[in-house]
Amino acid sequence: MTDTTDFDVLKQLATSLGASDVTVIPTHRIKIDEKLVDFCKEPRCENYGLSPGCPPHVTGPDGFRALLEDRSHVLVVRIVVPSAVLFSDERRELMAFLHELVATVELAAIKRGYKKAMAFAGGSCKDLFCFDEEDCNVLSGRGECRNPTRSRPSMSGFGVNVSHLLQTCGWDPNIKVKQPGDEPLSWVAGIVLLG
Ligand code: SF4
Repeated sequence: MTDTTDFDVLKQLATSLGASDVTVIPTHRIKIDEKLVDFCKEPRCENYGLSPGCPPHVTGPDGFRALLEDRSHVLVVRIVVPSAVLFSDERRELMAFLHELVATVELAAIKRGYKKAMAFAGGSCKDLFCFDEEDCNVLSGRGECRNPTRSRPSMSGFGVNVSHLLQTCGWDPNIKVKQPGDEPLSWVAGIVLLG
């Protein structure tokens, strides 16, 4: 199997799971902005510190750069949705779906030999998967993650510039509707590092 074949299989998987757009690019094209991490703290995200996938529990931009050095490519997925979904009760379901999608692609990549595959999504897994639990099982020291095949860290805490990444993939972050009066569209995105 060549990387190209593997990438095609993984892209097809992401599409079959529900990704609107999917591509694979070299990891050196990911832009990392330290200042984006500051937004987790100020204005403080209500989920700051509540899961191991968010600051201050993640390795941040420096840790992410180290991950990139060890991985050649990144699979990028985007899910396009009506903007209203992001401000509705469906938001949690959508973000959980994004986590599950990239986690599934990550596990498939590992099976195909990309042993260092790592997926990242957006939003706190505490809010998405353990919102009715008092705290995170991992951070509380009580045990393992309750959702190891579903939840993944958020890109925000590592400073990944997602808008820049979408542009690099050739996807306009400001999605234009087909005709005036159509419902405005927005997106959520995730990545799977491959190596
Ligand atoms: S148990 Fe797992 S899914 Fe739940 S908050 Fe902790 S890391 Fe996230």
